[in-house]
Amino acid sequence: MKYHDVIIVGGGLAGLRAAIEVNMHNLRAAVLSKVYPIRSHSIAAQGGINAPLGNHPRGSYDSWERHAFDTVKGSDYLADQDAVVRMIKDASARIFEMEHWGCPFSRTPDGKIAQRPFGGAGFPRTCFAADKTGHMLLHTLFEQAVKYESAAERGEMKIYNEWIVTSLVVENGVCRGVIALELATGKLEAFKADAVIFATGGAGRLYSNSTNALINTGMGMAVPYWAGVPLKDMEFVQFHPTTLYGSNILMTEGARGEGGYLTNNKGDRFTANYADSRKAMEVAPRDIVARNMTTEILEGRGFEDAYLLLDLRHLGEEKIATRLPGIRDICQKFLGIDPVDQPIPVQPGQHYTMGGIDCDKDGLSKVKGFYAAGEAACVSVHGGNRLGGNSLLDTIVFGKIAGEHASDYVVGKADLGAGDKALEDALAREEEKLKKLLSSTGSEDPSVIKEEMQKAMKDDVGIFRTKEQLGRALQRIRELRDRYKKIRLKHTGAKYNYDLMWNIELGGSLDVAEVIVAGALAREESRGSHFRRDFPKRDDEKFLKHTLAYYTPDGPRLEQSNVNLDHWAPKERKY
Ligand SMILES: Cc1cc2nc3c(=O)[nH]c(=O)nc-3n(C[C@H](O)[C@H](O)[C@H](O)COP(=O)(O)OP(=O)(O)OC[C@H]3O[C@@H](n4cnc5c(N)ncnc54)[C@H](O)[C@@H]3O)c2cc1C
Repeated sequence: MKYHDVIIVGGGLAGLRAAIEVNMHNLRAAVLSKVYPIRSHSIAAQGGINAPLGNHPRGSYDSWERHAFDTVKGSDYLADQDAVVRMIKDASARIFEMEHWGCPFSRTPDGKIAQRPFGGAGFPRTCFAADKTGHMLLHTLFEQAVKYESAAERGEMKIYNEWIVTSLVVENGVCRGVIALELATGKLEAFKADAVIFATGGAGRLYSNSTNALINTGMGMAVPYWAGVPLKDMEFVQFHPTTLYGSNILMTEGARGEGGYLTNNKGDRFTANYADSRKAMEVAPRDIVARNMTTEILEGRGFEDAYLLLDLRHLGEEKIATRLPGIRDICQKFLGIDPVDQPIPVQPGQHYTMGGIDCDKDGLSKVKGFYAAGEAACVSVHGGNRLGGNSLLDTIVFGKIAGEHASDYVVGKADLGAGDKALEDALAREEEKLKKLLSSTGSEDPSVIKEEMQKAMKDDVGIFRTKEQLGRALQRIRELRDRYKKIRLKHTGAKYNYDLMWNIELGGSLDVAEVIVAGALAREESRGSHFRRDFPKRDDEKFLKHTLAYYTPDGPRLEQSNVNLDHWAPKERKY
C-alpha cells in the first residue's frame, strides 16, 4: 500500500496548483493522473483568465465588486455569492503569482498584463497569452511541480503518470484514500492518504458535440458519487456559441472579444435583434448567445440548417496573427480557410460542466478529508452559467484553497494509523470487479453504447429542453446502463489496455449522464444554460436552489440546498 499525506487526483491546473500548495506546507503530496499532466484539458484553454486588474484604459475602473457582481448576474443568481466574492478577491494575487512564476502573458504597450473583453463584463477584464492561455498557465505550473518533485527539503511531491483512480475509499464518513489502476501494468493498488483532493476536470464527452478532450468522460465525478458524495447542479451544461461546424473545435470567445461579428444567412448581425443581447451583442454571456444562435438556425436563418458565420475579416491580418494565431491555424488546418479573408462556419457545442462534486468554499465535501477543485467541483461560483475566463481563475484560486485546507486538516489529525482495513477491502472489491470485466463474455459492444449515450445527450439534453425530450433521454440512458452490464472487451491484455480504461470510464459516464437528465427533468424552470421550453421563466420561489444528487443503485436521489445570497438580490438579466 502506498502512503502520502495528501493525494491529488488530476494533473490539470486545479490539481497541480493544489499539489504545489500542499508541498508549500511541507507535506508530501502525490498527484495521480490518467494522462501525463500537460495533456490535461487545461492545455487547450484559449481565450484567457479573468481578474479585475484594470490594466486596459476602457476597464480601468474595474473592481472586485464589479467582477463579483458580473459573475453572480452571469450565473443567473445561482452561484453562492460568498464563494464568488472569495474567488474574485483572490483573483489578482493568483494572476501575479503566475506571472512571477514565469507565465508569458500578452502585454500592453507599457508592459502590463494585457486584457481583452469577454462576455458578461462589457470591457476588457480577461488576461491572456495570445489564444494559448491554458497552454502557458499549465506549463508554468508543471515547471513548479517538477521543482517540488526534486526538492526534498520542502516535503516531496510524487507524480504518478497514467494511473486511473477507480474508487474513493470512505469509512464512516472519513476519507481514507483511493484505489487506482496503473495503465502500464494493469495492476490495481491502494493509496492511503489523510486527505484526497479530486481535480478531475469536466464531463464534456457525455455529448458527441463537445469542445472537450476525449479524456473528459465524467468518470472523476462518478467515483466520489459512488462513494456517497453528492453531485451538485449537474443539469447546468454550458454550450459555447462558437465551435467549428462539424468538428466542434473551439473558436475562443476572444475572437468576439477582439471584435468578431456573428452573422446569419441574411448577412445580419442578429444578436442585436434579441432583447437579452441587444446591447452587448456578440459578447453577451454564452448561454444567451448560444440560445439566440440556435433560434436563428431553427428559424431558417442559418446555413444548411446547421451553422452561422463568425466574421473576423475586418480585424485585419496583423491583429489576427498576433491576438488569434491559434484560431487562424485551426481554421487553416481543419477547414482549409484563412479567417483573414473568409468568415468561419460556427455552431454552438457542449463546452463546460457547471455542476460537479458538491463542496463548500474551502473545497471540502460532506466527507471528512475529501476535497474537490476545478471543473470537477461545484463550489458553486458559476451557478447556472459560467462567464468566459472565470474557469481558469476558478482552477488556480480553489486549487490553492483546497490544498491549503487539506494541509491544515492533515496536520491536525491524530488517527494516522486508521483506514488500512477499509483500503484492503476496497482493493479486493475492485480486483474482483476488474476480473469480471476482463473475463466478461457479453454480447454488447461498449463503443456502440458510448455513441448512443452521446447521441441521446446531444439530441434531447441540449440547449432547449422539454419534459418529453428529457423523459426519452432518461429512458435511453437507463437502457444503456442495463446493456453496459453485458459488455465484452475486445482486448484483455494487462499492459496499457486502453480498451479496459475506456470501458471502466463508460460505467461512470452513464451514471453521470443520468444525474444530468434527472436534474434537468426535476428543474421545472429556465435559468442560465438550462432552458425548458415548457417552463420558459425563471422561478426563484421554487428553484433558486441547488440540486443535490445522491447515488442509489436505482438512480439518483435528488435534494435541494440553499443558495448563498449575501450580497445581491436576484434581478432580471439583460445585456
Ligand atoms: C477548448 C477549451 C478552451 C477553454 N478555454 C478557456 C478559457 O480561455 N478560459 C477559461 O477560463 N476557461 C477555458 N476553458 C475551461 C477550462 O480550460 C477548464 O475548465 C479547466 O482548464 C479545467 O481544469 P481542471 O484542472 O479542473 O481539469 P483538467 O485540466 O481537465 O484536468 C483533469 C485532470 O484529471 C485527471 N483525471 C480525470 N479523471 C481521472 C481519474 N479517474 N484518475 C486519474 N486522473 C484522472 C486527468 O488526467 C487530468 O490530469 C476551456 C475549455 C476548453 C475545453
